[in-house]
Amino acid sequence: MNNSSAVLILDKVSKSYGNGLAVDEVSLSIRENEFFALLGPSGCGKTTLLRMLAGFETPSSGCIYLDGTDISPLPANKRPLNLMFQSYALFPNMSVRKNIAYGLEMEKLPAAEIRQRVDQVLATAQLGELAERKPDQLSGGQRQRVALARALVKRPRVLLLDEPLGALDKKLREKMQLELKRLQHESGITFIIVTHDQEEALVMSDRMAVLDGGKVCQIGSPAELYENPSSRFVANFIGVSNLLEGVRQSTDRVTVNGLSLQVESAVEAVLGEALAVVVRPERLQVLNERSEACDNQVEGQIVEIAYHGLDTNLHVQTLLCDKPLIVRVPSSQIEFSQFSQGANIRLGWQARHARVLTR
Ligand code: ATP
Repeated sequence: MNNSSAVLILDKVSKSYGNGLAVDEVSLSIRENEFFALLGPSGCGKTTLLRMLAGFETPSSGCIYLDGTDISPLPANKRPLNLMFQSYALFPNMSVRKNIAYGLEMEKLPAAEIRQRVDQVLATAQLGELAERKPDQLSGGQRQRVALARALVKRPRVLLLDEPLGALDKKLREKMQLELKRLQHESGITFIIVTHDQEEALVMSDRMAVLDGGKVCQIGSPAELYENPSSRFVANFIGVSNLLEGVRQSTDRVTVNGLSLQVESAVEAVLGEALAVVVRPERLQVLNERSEACDNQVEGQIVEIAYHGLDTNLHVQTLLCDKPLIVRVPSSQIEFSQFSQGANIRLGWQARHARVLTR
């Protein structure tokens, strides 16, 4: 596990362009040997934030500390941070080995040290057999690994990655996500990755920050953000959510569209307050006569059945909201004859499996 000492601290960092605020007082503390993801929709300020860390943009206000030192005065090439761009920008006329060695040669390191470090990185990135090839003789995934190896060989304190898997197709992307995680782990270098792909952030990162409109909405581990989103925005952005808009009726009950739902008891409940009850699709159960009792039950009609291989999503229209609820059932556990479009079913969930959001 990561130790908790901070490598990089952002203290109320903002960036404005003209009248627009691209990054709005972002404060973050990124730990030693951490895989940290900056996640958010297009235009939320992720890239601007990364470029300020790399030294390609200057903050309008706020400070960035690396190992306790304010790095704001340092130009990009003097910072012990390395930014890997989405376009890998390999030198086409150089071999893989030469591409990787280039940065160290520029630093005028002794030839023996360069060879040793390049060999080590070639092995880590599983590129040994491809060392003499030119970039145009490589697949997309291999080129991506060369770009990573080239960044890792310089042993930056922090490696910044801007949508590093953006150019790859889905299958390769999934493979490279695990690869990237392994490389991070083995190199012991702190990675900060920018992505708009929530699944990618969930798979790869130790912790992530969700951004919206230049502000940090929530920071936490993937499981924390998924299980305990702090706002409707995060609940919607991370994974699939059933959001039921209602009004607080008592400490442990919420009225949603005239129906009373049980929720976990809240000490600071404000009666009459507008809020949302969030239930993840895998927490909804299809009930039958044999089912154990659920705190909440609702009748509904199946309006769509979406088969995803491992799982099947049932879209069920209920009286709770206009949108159908999404119910995820393992495909292996259902008999398709049991479900058909238009069929009536009963759904249920336990109060402890729902979250109540006021924002
Ligand atoms: P995407 O996922 O689409 O790349 P992003 O989250 O990385 O988006 P940024 O590129 O950081 O977003 O942009 C944040 C905001 O700042 C946007 O509204 C963008 O239009 C604006 N912006 C970024 N760079 C500039 C610039 N050089 N001049 C003016 N506005 C800019």
